[in-house]
Amino acid sequence: MRLVDLNTVGGIGANSIFVELGPFRFVIDAGMHPKLSGNRALPDFRQLKDLTLDFVLLTHCHLDHLGGLPVLMRYQPDTCVFSSTASKEIAPRMLLNSCAVMKRQKFESGMSELPLYSRKEVRNLNNRIMPVPYNRPYVFYAHGDKIVFNFQPAGHVVGASGVIISYKNRKILITGDVLFAPLRTLSGAQFPRGNIDTLIMETTRGMTERTSSFDRESQIDALISTLDKGLGKGGSVLIPVFAFGRMQEILSLISEARSKGKLRHSPIYASGLGIDLAKMFDSISRKTGLVNFRKRLFKELQVQPLPRNLETGKLPTPNSLYVLSSGMLVENTPSYKIAASLLDNGKNTICWVGYCDPDTPGGRLLAAKQGDLFPFDSLNFECRIKAQIEKFDLSGHADREELVQFALDINPRVIVLTHGEETARNWFRNSFKELIPRTRIVDPEPLESYVV
Ligand SMILES: [Zn+2]
Ligand SMILES: [Zn+2]
Repeated sequence: MRLVDLNTVGGIGANSIFVELGPFRFVIDAGMHPKLSGNRALPDFRQLKDLTLDFVLLTHCHLDHLGGLPVLMRYQPDTCVFSSTASKEIAPRMLLNSCAVMKRQKFESGMSELPLYSRKEVRNLNNRIMPVPYNRPYVFYAHGDKIVFNFQPAGHVVGASGVIISYKNRKILITGDVLFAPLRTLSGAQFPRGNIDTLIMETTRGMTERTSSFDRESQIDALISTLDKGLGKGGSVLIPVFAFGRMQEILSLISEARSKGKLRHSPIYASGLGIDLAKMFDSISRKTGLVNFRKRLFKELQVQPLPRNLETGKLPTPNSLYVLSSGMLVENTPSYKIAASLLDNGKNTICWVGYCDPDTPGGRLLAAKQGDLFPFDSLNFECRIKAQIEKFDLSGHADREELVQFALDINPRVIVLTHGEETARNWFRNSFKELIPRTRIVDPEPLESYVV
């Protein structure tokens, strides 16, 4: 097998891996880098230009895996994308949102290549995504040969999949982004353990040590108690979230806490894409039973969409919960605008529930101190940090210790490290060297070819 990591900047970016296995050529994911814009945000597809891919495998619909797919498919007009059933439904909605964001970026930055694809291309792509149910091996015939792939639930987010690829006697497991622990809305990953030759695994949390006393449920209790106290003192609470997955999970936790009498009533605001995706989760839940989410929860909680015209420095309603995207307070997103309106009041609270890149406004706010002046550049506004800032560990990615244990259980011949910063990958490489010294560890350099 030959593989090339097409994610040019390394780390967690525009995730995409090109694989040659026997006569088959395929790509796993085609993402868009969350911190870059324009063509620089895409994987480097140049070495695929003169060849025809047999298929593309999409592990899930976060944009760092999906956002570059319309560009890849533009040059592969006869190629199919295979995904889980849920990802087939969610992908077009995520990509249409990406089109809208790129149009706005073009207006703000004047970058001529934006948007990188059109709504029409997204609609055309939709017809080329073939859904494959979990645990149903799909046999792909071509070149007088066959290859089998089998999508496995990976936890993490609705539709997320690991994929087992079988070719002749060789089995390769791609974890994709994976979470073994169950969420309220989703079961944890269920990967088979036996007979895997090559493990291509994510390494997101390689730098995050988890103490033995850590317990996800106690983090949830602490979050709910912080929300309740924040509302109790007459303030508002902002929870910046990813619209896909995290928003619906947090609303489920809020609903559960309210029904147990642990969280007082207040108005709740959510933002557009998350509300749309919640409706999709409802339909996927009814069709497949793989998601535990019903849209009636929005009615029960009386969730309101955030008003369009927000006045900077003024909240739509005081003493409310704001569950808004983006998760990292990216400029001009609903969470960014509401943060600007509640940051300078000590009664208010911001609760972080996921990863925040240090180079985003969210990351900068987390690094700042109480009383610092904080700029909201794109709003031409600044204010002092007086709100309470709290952080909870509710990651959507498996702990490094869990992933190491998983790899030990499998004991593969080769492990390929992906989807992690350099220091995170190094931690995994060193751990594996010590624990399974006979396993070959490949930490691919971008655009280099590896035979494994
Ligand atoms: Zn993901
Ligand atoms: Zn990812």
